[in-house]
Amino acid sequence: MLEMIKKADVLIEALPYIQSFYDKTVVIKYGGAVLTDTVIRRNVLEDIVFMSYVGMRPVLVHGGGPYISKRIEELGKETRFVRGYRVTDEETMEIVEEELSKVNRDIVREIISLGGSAISLSGKEDHLVEVKKHADIEGEDVGFVGDVTKVNGDVIQRMITSDIIPVISPVGIGKDGFAYNVNADNVSAEIARSLGALKLVLLTNVRGILKDLTKPESVISHITLADIEDLIEKKVIAGGMIPKVKACTRALERGVKKTHIIDGRIPHGILLEIFTDKGVGTEIVKR
Ligand code: ADP
Ligand code: MG
Repeated sequence: MLEMIKKADVLIEALPYIQSFYDKTVVIKYGGAVLTDTVIRRNVLEDIVFMSYVGMRPVLVHGGGPYISKRIEELGKETRFVRGYRVTDEETMEIVEEELSKVNRDIVREIISLGGSAISLSGKEDHLVEVKKHADIEGEDVGFVGDVTKVNGDVIQRMITSDIIPVISPVGIGKDGFAYNVNADNVSAEIARSLGALKLVLLTNVRGILKDLTKPESVISHITLADIEDLIEKKVIAGGMIPKVKACTRALERGVKKTHIIDGRIPHGILLEIFTDKGVGTEIVKR
């Protein structure tokens, strides 16, 4: 009995959140590293289906890093990252497209099997995500790595107003007609701002922004943009965390209200962050 009352309490605690997030768009980026574990993946997709059933409008952008790196390794090639960006030659780009479209199809299938409706979208199709080649990083040409110049949000908007969850793969199209690999954090931020999303949620394989990488309990639960700049300068924020905080910065500067970096491995981490009084990861706000 007590257990049942507790469950009802949890639902009631969520009510004001459900009310204030009703009809609101939330862009969720699902990080490469948490994609590969089938249990975690199912948990995350369940949360997203739940969100759509309580009236929110989730948009999912996924990565595919570990799958891509595995294929590259099988070819006997070396995977290289510069400041969190994958150096992408032509052969790598082909693998990127193949692996992302596989992951994309699997996610769509899984959402449908959980009772949600979803549709597969590639940033390249319909010129959804337009890019320009990324400038050299630390003096190095990073190849087919794109920077988002424009998101044509109409297609995405049409899907979400029809209660369909768009599942977007982070490939962009250049003015030269080539496909470019775009960091999924970057894509999700641009999509969030083009849709006027309320929130951007980045799911990853760490607790959030950590003060000390070796200490999960050093997670910073609330931070402003000014403090982030400081942490980048002090090199506390490095590697794959850089595109994430940059993405959050971009989104916040263009009207997205709150951004979150959450550990995708925590069961129902997104629901905890959105629907309860206690968040689980790092919440980044403008000021
Ligand atoms: P994803 O696949 O989710 O994009 P990434 O590997 O690209 O994940 O980025 C997350 C990684 O960023 C962490 O695993 C960690 O190694 C690195 N990182 C660097 N600085 C920090 C920091 N201050 N806090 C947390 N993670 C950090
Ligand atoms: Mg990354």
